[in-house]
Amino acid sequence: LPEPYALIPVLDDIARWWPRPHAWDNKYTRGVLGVCAGSFRYPGAGELAVAGALAGPAGYIRYAGTAARHVRYRYPEVVTKDRVADAGRVQAWVAGPGMGTDSVADSQLRSALAAPVPMCLDADALTLVAHDPSMLVGRRHGTVMTPHDREFARLSGHAIGDDRIGEAVALAKRLECVVLLKGYRTVVADAFGNVHVNPTGDPALATAGSGDVLAGLIGSLLAAGLSPVRSAVAGAFLHGLAGRHAARQGPVTATRIADALHDVVAELS
Ligand code: AMP
Ligand code: MG
Repeated sequence: LPEPYALIPVLDDIARWWPRPHAWDNKYTRGVLGVCAGSFRYPGAGELAVAGALAGPAGYIRYAGTAARHVRYRYPEVVTKDRVADAGRVQAWVAGPGMGTDSVADSQLRSALAAPVPMCLDADALTLVAHDPSMLVGRRHGTVMTPHDREFARLSGHAIGDDRIGEAVALAKRLECVVLLKGYRTVVADAFGNVHVNPTGDPALATAGSGDVLAGLIGSLLAAGLSPVRSAVAGAFLHGLAGRHAARQGPVTATRIADALHDVVAELS
């Protein structure tokens, strides 16, 4: 086979991978996710990342950031702190949506990156990493990056061309992480050259906050112990189904995508 060649996941793959609780599980063993997203200026991004995470399999969500008041008002099931350092132990972090790129955001991101757990980086976290890629050095746990085209260009240093698979693989190899390049037919590439092309989706997913929901869902899958590649592939697949589902019911907003995720996940049985 020519390399890189792409795998196209099907619903059965996702259903097989989906972490299901055992009878003896508790909220900690199901996975504790830390969410570092949103800010005083952009609280909504934090709420949407949490909304995506709540549709996933993790048993416990801890939020850390300056949108804490908003998040706990909207989601009483989420434990909130103002800082990553106060959030306690988690099994995965998702960081970036709406957190900003100032020095406070930078230090919060560095605290989360220092935790010996897998991580999903999106949005502002990608901008901060693009400014200082050395942040990733020494990370031994899986890192999933979820750039759209502009975020990808910031990370790679050039505008993205036609070869989206080749570009995603090159960046995954360079940063030694999983790259989920968003768009029509989202590409997931890992540092070994493995590629998945997501078959689900709807242009209605192109709406503000949509990616924040996806990042939260991927974080929840990481916290539940799914591998970084499978977390990214399953997240994109279900997010795409949820977008289609929401589009059939009327105008699509990020909140509706998160709501539809619950229905799509329920159908995995
Ligand atoms: P973001 O720009 O971070 O809000 O993420 C946008 C989300 O919408 C990603 O999951 C994209 O894959 C998805 N998306 C954007 N445009 C399209 C499209 N034309 N077709 C399908 N999905 C799309
Ligand atoms: Mg985004």
